Amino acid sequence: MGVVYLFKRDLRLHDNRGLAKAAELSKEFLPLFIFDREIIGELRAEGERLQYVFRAVKSLSSRIKLYCFYDSTERALREVFRVYRPKFFITTASYSWSGRERNELIKRVCKEYGVELVEVLENFLVNPEEVPQRKVYTPFYKEWSKGIDLRDIGSLDFVVPELPLPTLKDIEGSLPLREYGSFSPEECKNRLKSFPFERYEELRNFPGVDGTSRLSPCIRFGLLSTREVYREAQGRSEQFIKELAWREFWYHIALHFPWVRDTEFQEKRRGIRWENKEEYIRAFFEGRTGYPIVDAGVRQLLEEKWVHNRIRMVLASFLTKVLLVDWRIGERFFMEHLLDYDEVVNVGNWQWSASVGADPKPFRLFNPILQAQKYDPDCAYTKKYLPELSHLPCSMLHDPLSHSLPYIKPIVNYYERISLAKHAFKA
Ligand SMILES: Cc1cc2nc3c(=O)[nH]c(=O)nc-3n(C[C@H](O)[C@H](O)[C@H](O)COP(=O)(O)OP(=O)(O)OC[C@H]3O[C@@H](n4cnc5c(N)ncnc54)[C@H](O)[C@@H]3O)c2cc1C
Repeated sequence: MGVVYLFKRDLRLHDNRGLAKAAELSKEFLPLFIFDREIIGELRAEGERLQYVFRAVKSLSSRIKLYCFYDSTERALREVFRVYRPKFFITTASYSWSGRERNELIKRVCKEYGVELVEVLENFLVNPEEVPQRKVYTPFYKEWSKGIDLRDIGSLDFVVPELPLPTLKDIEGSLPLREYGSFSPEECKNRLKSFPFERYEELRNFPGVDGTSRLSPCIRFGLLSTREVYREAQGRSEQFIKELAWREFWYHIALHFPWVRDTEFQEKRRGIRWENKEEYIRAFFEGRTGYPIVDAGVRQLLEEKWVHNRIRMVLASFLTKVLLVDWRIGERFFMEHLLDYDEVVNVGNWQWSASVGADPKPFRLFNPILQAQKYDPDCAYTKKYLPELSHLPCSMLHDPLSHSLPYIKPIVNYYERISLAKHAFKA
């Protein structure tokens, strides 16, 4: 009985329920990974993200025989089904919009070849379908906490058939890889083991210190299971576990309100008259707004393909409420650059930061001057990404409206713009 296992966002051999399902059905199965040209092609950070995934897949390939394609999912499946006529096709269930579309395509091709598709729940601590519907995070968290399922599936034993199909060695030469060193999949385990969870709550809001786990790419691509991350944090940081729950909250919202993909969760915030001024959008994307903390954030994004959470909130709030640019434009900008980009989490957070999403607070303000003073008090963060300003006193960098800096003049006055935004948001 032939079985295929398709790896997607679960690039690991340990504690992987999808893989365990394949091994349960047959001791011999075909493990598969597809570098889908269509998924990769949409990203400006294509080369960096590909480099990260490539290294993760390479590590898998060094431990098992993994068949690999660099092609569309459909063509790859047809080739696999032609050569190896499986009875079952196993992969993880998907709750993201594009993931669902991909699983629909897989379902269609499987049906055509008479292959039975089995989708296994993985990458969540709680089955998203089992949490009663909630629109607000805190009541969601209460329900979610009751359903955590930490069962480990132990180690697996399986053999891989020898087939005339490509492996990583055959395709790696054609992958458009780009050098990337800010994050590497090999670090996930060490980072998890060495991260001081006890200090998370105290340090997590300060972008100038290494106070958050930086595990988001490991979680996004499934190099770590959400269960092992939870187990490390358990009893050491309730706040950290709340962050893991935020991730699942956005999936919960997307499951019950799938239209949030491109529509505001809050009905009263649909139809805001965004200015979408080309000049402002360009200045923001290039990190030239004249607000050092904002520009530092954009530089971090462009250089490292990752940004600290506090700064992501400052950026999203600045773009939407100060520059009055549609949150969808910002969401896309992050999509193109973030290594940990997750469409459901990104949309949820952009809507939340823009005060149009699932958030009971009517209008959140992230004043970039106050945020810089409070969370980057010694300007360690700002100076790291804007080294040309490192000779200036920090108080000047915090407040570009009160000081004349040898730097780009602020493109707008925050205080004037916020009154416009309140009007546009009817806040
Ligand atoms: C505008 C905006 C866009 C964002 N886009 C993404 C995205 O595309 N992908 C992504 O993974 N995160 C996104 N986030 C959430 C958050 O910023 C990152 O998960 C976090 O900064 C990753 O760093 P870390 O691993 O050090 O986080 P930690 O603080 O160490 O948190 C641990 C884990 O919890 C999860 N988490 C933390 N904060 C959030 C949150 N607000 N929402 C959902 N999950 C969270 C992540 O999996 C993270 O790795 C976004 C936040 C904002 C404000």
